[in-house]
Amino acid sequence: MRCLSCNRVLTDFEATRKSATSGEFIDLCNHCYADIQYDIDVIEREDLRDEESFNDPDDEFDIDDEESNDEQF
Ligand SMILES: [Zn+2]
Repeated sequence: MRCLSCNRVLTDFEATRKSATSGEFIDLCNHCYADIQYDIDVIEREDLRDEESFNDPDDEFDIDDEESNDEQF
């Protein structure tokens, strides 16, 4: 299952989010859903919510800045 807007692979939490009015799956990643979250009512599987899914995976796996890690600790 992929995001209808940006084609990113959806997490279980994202893939199970559906409209409270139509019952249809929203099929948007958290990033894209954030743009419309105040426009629609949805049913979310809170038990599947993963806080890490709210981070941008593109940043999470960006390890090009190894040389600047010295200041992290
Ligand atoms: Zn998306």
